[in-house]
Amino acid sequence: MAVTASSSEKVIRGLYQITNNHDQGFEAQIEQILKMGLERFNLDIGILSKIEDNQYIVKYCVVPDDVELTSGVEFDFNSTYCHITCQANEPTAIEHIGEDDRYANHPAYQAFGLESYIGMPIKLNGEIYGTLNFSSATPYKRQFQESDIDAIQLVTAWVEVEIIRRRQEKRLKELNQILERKAYEDSLTCIPNRRAMFKHVSPDVSRIIREQGKASLAIIDIDLFKNINDTYGHQIGDDVLKKVASALNESKRDYDFISRFGGEEFLLWLPNTNAQAAETVCTRIKNNIEKLSLCATTVTISIGISSYSDGDLQHLKNKQSKLNRLILDELISEADQALYHAKDAGRNCVKSYQRVTLTNAELAMC
Ligand code: GH3
Ligand code: MG
Ligand code: MG
Repeated sequence: MAVTASSSEKVIRGLYQITNNHDQGFEAQIEQILKMGLERFNLDIGILSKIEDNQYIVKYCVVPDDVELTSGVEFDFNSTYCHITCQANEPTAIEHIGEDDRYANHPAYQAFGLESYIGMPIKLNGEIYGTLNFSSATPYKRQFQESDIDAIQLVTAWVEVEIIRRRQEKRLKELNQILERKAYEDSLTCIPNRRAMFKHVSPDVSRIIREQGKASLAIIDIDLFKNINDTYGHQIGDDVLKKVASALNESKRDYDFISRFGGEEFLLWLPNTNAQAAETVCTRIKNNIEKLSLCATTVTISIGISSYSDGDLQHLKNKQSKLNRLILDELISEADQALYHAKDAGRNCVKSYQRVTLTNAELAMC
């Protein structure tokens, strides 16, 4: 069969169509490329291989029904035709291996008996990744020609670019995930930062309002922290901050959310927790911190709590007609006021904000 210019154009058109179908995914594109190659070369077995630790790994393959070959199958690299191709470092085409003086005794021929083969090394940044190859158990009916070599080179070039692009895309995704994590993490203590707190707590406030549920919010402040800095230096101060953050993180319940709110203050969100339960949890946390030896003097904390239950938050929302973020600001402000009381009461204690509950009638007048 004569290979005409039009058959090369067919490869280009086919490749263009296949490579434009990004939505199908890499696997489907490779399968179509292998099928197109088999049709182009009139061969039976198409493989995209990866070479790793001297092993030839079939990554993708298209084979006739009677050939038992699937992706994932591995061979000793030295006993494959692709070893010849990679050593030559260029496209290799052999029409009748059994009659080829160089390769008739090749272990691949002995093992698989494939008579015709055309293959090309796939290189990523100058390093061999694997090969793209097509073969058949029968001798080739014609000579491989320049246009065949062009065709396999063209297809391989696309595969190379696509593998690199996919690796870069994967790396970019990983980097973005790291960046996102960093954007929501306090760099000193490695617990969630203020931004993360608003991101996590705001929607939870909305949920609790909807469900007419309960929740508490606590502001935790290290007592006389300035003295620690002044007495032992900023470095020890930082150290104490880190240890307090990690102790708070360990002391909280699984479903609570701790964040560094700023300076030596932390915010603890306690969903589905009424005032009494919040006081119990916060008192336990406060006692835990006091027991730790964080520096030469005992470090204590004070905690202010704001709690809402039985639909109180809905009342607050009605009263304020404000956005959830502002309701959260209100909760923080109330917890802050309770914290002032705790400081006034001599520090190292837990205080809850005492709210004057408005009746529905009073609310309606607001
Ligand atoms: P109080 O019991 O009333 O809370 O007293 P305090 O000394 O803890 O409060 P004050 O607000 O007077 O001081 C807080 C100190 O925390 C001052 C500030 O320099 C220090 N601080 C804030 N952020 C950091 C930090 O990242 N590292 C260190 N080492 N110190 C910090
Ligand atoms: Mg403070
Ligand atoms: Mg303080």
